Formats: sequence, C-alpha cells, structure tokens
Amino acid sequence: MLELKKINKSYKTGTFVQQALKDVSIEFRKNEFVAILGASGSGKTTLLNIIGGLDRYDSGDLIINNKSTKKFKAIDWDRYRNNCIGFIFQSYNLIPHITILDNVEMGMTLSGVNSKTRKRKAKEALKKVGLLEHSHKKPNQLSGGQMQRVAIARALVNNPDIILADEPTGALDTKTSVQIMDLIQEIAKDKLVIMVTHNPELAHQYATRIIEFKDGKKLSDSNPVTKEEKDTSTLKIRKTAMSFRTALKLSFNNIKTKKGRTLLTAFASSIGIIGIALILSLSNGFKIEVDKFEKSSLSQAPIVISTQAMSMSEETIEKVTSNDLKKYPTEDKVYVQDDMMETVLHTNILSDEYIEYIKKIDKQLLSGISYQTTTGFNIINHSKDGYQLVTNSSYWILFPTNPNTNENGILEDNYDVLAGEIDESVPGLILQVDSKNRIYKSTLEALGLSGDEVSFEEILNQELKVVMNDEYYLQYGEAFIPNQDLETLYHSENSISLKVQAIIRGKEDKELITSGSGFAYTNALTELVISKNKDSKIVKAQQEKNYNILTNQPFDDSVGSTNTKEIMLGYLGAETTPNVIYLYPKDFDAKQEITNYLDQYNEDKEAEEVVEYTDMAAMISSLSGNIMDAITIVLVAFSSISLVVSSIMIAIITYISVLERIKEIGILRALGARKKDIKRVFNAETFIIGLTSGFLGILIAYLLTIPTNQIIENLSGLANVAKLNIVHAIMLVIINVILTMIGGAIPSRMASKKDPVEALRTE
Ligand code: ADP
Ligand code: MG
Repeated sequence: MLELKKINKSYKTGTFVQQALKDVSIEFRKNEFVAILGASGSGKTTLLNIIGGLDRYDSGDLIINNKSTKKFKAIDWDRYRNNCIGFIFQSYNLIPHITILDNVEMGMTLSGVNSKTRKRKAKEALKKVGLLEHSHKKPNQLSGGQMQRVAIARALVNNPDIILADEPTGALDTKTSVQIMDLIQEIAKDKLVIMVTHNPELAHQYATRIIEFKDGKKLSDSNPVTKEEKDTSTLKIRKTAMSFRTALKLSFNNIKTKKGRTLLTAFASSIGIIGIALILSLSNGFKIEVDKFEKSSLSQAPIVISTQAMSMSEETIEKVTSNDLKKYPTEDKVYVQDDMMETVLHTNILSDEYIEYIKKIDKQLLSGISYQTTTGFNIINHSKDGYQLVTNSSYWILFPTNPNTNENGILEDNYDVLAGEIDESVPGLILQVDSKNRIYKSTLEALGLSGDEVSFEEILNQELKVVMNDEYYLQYGEAFIPNQDLETLYHSENSISLKVQAIIRGKEDKELITSGSGFAYTNALTELVISKNKDSKIVKAQQEKNYNILTNQPFDDSVGSTNTKEIMLGYLGAETTPNVIYLYPKDFDAKQEITNYLDQYNEDKEAEEVVEYTDMAAMISSLSGNIMDAITIVLVAFSSISLVVSSIMIAIITYISVLERIKEIGILRALGARKKDIKRVFNAETFIIGLTSGFLGILIAYLLTIPTNQIIENLSGLANVAKLNIVHAIMLVIINVILTMIGGAIPSRMASKKDPVEALRTE
C-alpha cells in the first residue's frame, strides 16, 4: 500500500545544503501503529511531510498502491492528501475564525461532499473524540487537549487510510497526553498510523512498531515488513474541488473577525464610487432640469412655416463666417459683404388647402397662432447718383415675432438694439446686422448708400419713399407699365416716408435663432400700405382682368400660377394671403403633436408640394444635450482615477491578508485544497470587500446628494437636482467588484503558490 524507496531530501538555505533525509526506505502495513523516534532535527517531520504528499522528495520513490509517484501531478497530490491522509500536528493547526464543526467538515467541504452528509459525519467524529457539545465553539475557546481532539476528529472524518501525527502530544501535559494517545491507539485499530514523537516511553507503550532516526537516516526498525506479508491493499483516491460558496464562507468568517479594518478598507475604496455616483446623479439631475427648462422656455419658440424655407449649405456658412472681422464689435459701424445667394431655397406653397389644414390644428395644442402677410412695396431711394427703384426682394427678413402677443418680448429677448429705437406704431424699417455687424452689399444699395463700411448714423439718416400703386402703374389700354419718373414719384405727397428706425443684432447667446442680416418692417407700415391701397384702381383692374401686370399675360391655371397670382396681388397691397405662419405650441408635448400633424400633411405630397417648417428649439435641445454628455464623460474619467487608486489599495490589503493567513493556507493545503481553491479563498475576500465598498459608496453618495441638493437649491433655486439613477448604482457596484477583484488577483495568485510545508511552519 505504501512504500518509501531510497528517499533523499535536502534543503538549501543560501549556499548551505541541509540533507534532511538520506536513502530512507520503509515499507508500511495497511494496519499498524508506527512510532518514529529521533532527536530534534533528525528528519522526522520531513519524512511525514513527504509521506503525506505535502513535500516532494528529491530522489528515490514513494510507492502508493504499487505505483510510482514520480509522475504525480499537483492535482494528484492534492487528491491523495484529501482522501488518503489525515494530518495531526503538534500545534493543532485549526482554522481560528470558523467553528469546531466547520473545522472538522473542511476536508469534506473541499472534496465537495454535500452539507447534510458533512454535518452528520463531522458530528460522528466529534462524538468519537468526546466534543460533540462543543461543536459550535471557536478553537480558541478550547483547551489544548480539546483542540488536539478536534484535530484528530478532523483527521478521521474523511475516513482516510493513513493518519500522520507529528508530535501530537508535544504541547500537552502528561495526563492529557495519555488521553490523546488512547484515542490515537483506538484509531490505529483499522488504519495505518505513523506518529512522530521524541518520547520513547509513549512510543513503546502504544506503538506496534518503532523506527528510529538519526541525522536523516533510518537507524533501526523494530518490526519491518517481511517478504511473505507483502501488502496488496489499495488506497482510494477521489476528486477534490472547493466551491466558491465555501470560499465565500471561509473569507466571510475571516473578515468578521476584523470588522473594523474591513469597514475602513471598504470605506477608503468606496471614495471613487462616491465621486462617480455623485457626478452621475448631478448630470442626471441637470439633464432633467435642462430638459424641463427647454420644455418650458424653448417650446415657446414658434414653429415657422414660411413661403421660403432657407437652408444654407455648409460651404456657404463657411464663406459667410470666415473673415478677419471681430465678432460682436463695439464700433458704430456696419460692414458690407458681397451677396451670398448660394442658399438652397425650398419654395413652400402655402395654398388655400394648406391654410385650411393649418386652421384645423387642435386649438388645445396652441398658445398662439399668427399669419404674416407680405405687402409688396414700391420703394424709391435717393442718393448722389439720383433716384432708384428698390427691386431686389432678397434683403427682406422676417423676425420670429408674434404680432398678436408683442408683449411676450421675443424681440427684446433675442436682439440687442445697437442704434435707434423700435416703434411698431410708426411706419419704418429695422436693419438687422449679423454677429460681425455685416450686411449684404445689395441691402446697403437698397438704402441708396455705398462703400465697405458705413456708420450707424449714416444709415439712420437715410430716407426712402414708398410709392402708391396707382401712381406707380400707368394704364395703356389693356396693359400697365411702371412709371419711370422716379423723382416725381419720390416727391409725391401720397408717398410714405420711411427711415431705418433701429439697427439690431442677435444677442450673443441667441446666435442660432438670430443669424442672418437684412431689413424688417414695422406692422404700422404694413397696415398703412394696405389701407392706402384699399381702393386702388390698379388692384381692381388687376382682379377683374385676371392677368399679370408684369408680363401683360393672363394667368393660366397650371400648377404654381395660382401662387404667382397671389404673390402678385399681395405685391399690389391688396391680398392678405399669409406668407409666413407662426405656430406657438402650448408646451413641449404639444409641439411634438403639432410637428407630427405638419409632417402628416407632407406624407403623400410630391416634392414641390411639400411644405417645410423650421423648429429652432429642436436644434438647440440636441446641442445642449451633447454638451452635458461631454462634461459628464470628462468628470467621470477624472474620478475613475480614484477607482484605480482604490484597486491598488485593495491589492495591498489583500497582500497583508495573505501574509496573515499563511498558516490557514498551509492547513487547507494539508487537507487537500488545490492551488485554485486557495486563490478562490482570497478572490472571495476581495469580492466581499468590493461588494461592501460598492454598497457603502452608493449609500454615502446617496446621503451626500441631500446636502448637495440643499447647496444647489440655495445657489440656483433648483430643488432636488442630484438624483442617483438605480441603473447607474447597480452598474457602479458591479464595476467596483470587478476592479477590487482585479486588484486582489496578484496577491491571491501569490497565496496559491505558497509552499504548504513552509506555510505550516509559520507562526
Ligand atoms: P525533526 O522533525 O526531526 O525535528 P525536520 O524534519 O523538521 O526535523 O528537519 C530536518 C532537518 O532539515 C533539520 O536540520 C532542519 O533544520 C532542516 N529543515 C527542515 N525543513 C527545512 C526547510 N524548509 N528549510 C531548510 N531546512 C530545513
Ligand atoms: Mg519535527
């Protein structure tokens, strides 16, 4: 069953080589009580360790079941220790932080025996050694003799074939020693017991065979195995495997013995989590606030449906914006640039059908609706070059103002008045410059001015005249022709005098809504022109004859011509077909419904019949959302550094724990734990710390949101901004567990590589 053949073992310490065993050959019977006698340092413990598979021999062979162990792998030794061997040590070697019962169960726990069987067997073994009633105590609550009995119970419980006892009574008084020896003798009835002792009296009294050692050599053997009694019985070797649950239990019990330290560690390593959780909950809350703000304020911005929906190409924007001019200049000057008409124009046809469709919008969704009509003006300017008709219509711009609710201050909110004063009750023009105080060349020429730079004063002083249609168009039979005598028209008393009331520029933070440049005109001007043209002969003639005065051709009924006719009549100041519609949504959700409604109209329309609308608020919302995300990512990245720092700290803590638990590692290995199992024990420990610090961090972060919210409320008046999202919380705990386990991985590996013999030697 078990045989040593010329075993040699030496230890190297530095350059010094200590030969612990020299050519030791011994054969053992299946059932005998062998006592090994010898002075201290004669190699007895080394012999036991080699027999028990805790230590490896240098040369020779250990024959188990008639098989050489030269080719044994680590896992084979682990199984052999777990199934065939029961160790009893002089210093008991119980795991201090688990109960007596758990200590006795450990070997079976390692080999994956189920809990019920484990408990039953462990209790049987404890009963055998007379300690059943102490089974729930911890080792340090027992006397030395009792502890040794627990160790015996542990050695017995898995019913191994071999019991190895290394000076089991070495630390006990005589009376207790006798009790322990009686117990071991009892065991030896049906097992092979190999007991090391330096007490020859005890050896002679109990053992059936005495082998003496001196300086690593076998000196004598009182009862060697003879050739006739060759033992052919075999040892049974099963698998071992520690479950993660066992590892968790071991580590949990260990951690329980140092609660204070664990809590401090968990707290320290939770700081990273606290930082990230706070940042996330703040950005979470700010996003909600920004959303709310946008819903309440931006949803008031109207949806604009204009006859001309403009969309600038990127190239054009580049050309318009890239020059040396300073943004938001303080000089009282307007700068002139060449016209940029590279914008893509989509002509919206605001047909009667469409107007009807708009009128059917659910009124509940709107806080206001307004239609803006264009009245065409015949404007004449006067400059040093003479009189000139203002013909180009491209410099007319439209403000997103609601004529019905002027008091809502859309103009004041979005624009700075650089010069002059706006008075809606007086007919007049308003000049909008872009962010660099620029206007187009044609816009300046329309005023009868020229140059690259013009002062505000010059612009405000320039006078224009609006000429009435009846004076402007002269009838020649069926046809009409424009009157070319501009000077007379300019000075006619029917003409309306017109000046630039004010020069305005979009506010710096409102650039998206207010880009572009050009003229706008006051409502008073529109109303005056319409009222003056009410009884216009030309308009009447136009309506009756139904033909185009510019081409002198009748309008046909083909697609688009109705529109031309409407524009033409509008130009004559008679029609009030809207060319811009403003829809003011009640709130954010209403806006959604309105845009859905507008989209619905376009669904089955041809490309040229599609009516496009502009929703500025949507553009701004998506922009601010992106900025919030970017800020959050940067802040989280910063506080992630503290997570890395805590991982390093966990590595150090785990390393210290490994140092503290070296003895336990040795015990577990002696009981048959694999290297993997040891790794598991420490991974379980970091898992517990990671989980604790994760939850602790989340809890602290949650508590910190309370004062944080108070501070924010005091500063900004916004209540309950910081809100911790449950998904973020769970994710952070998981990330923390993973990071701490990574931090503990190296020390855990180190622990698993510890030599079991040396581990058992440490105190
Ligand atoms: P015993 O148990 O008979 O007192 P040991 O087997 O423990 O003796 O030791 C035998 C010899 O080997 C001693 O001289 C001891 O110092 C040496 N020895 C044992 N283990 C080691 C070790 N791990 N490293 C170095 N020397 C060792
Ligand atoms: Mg010894």
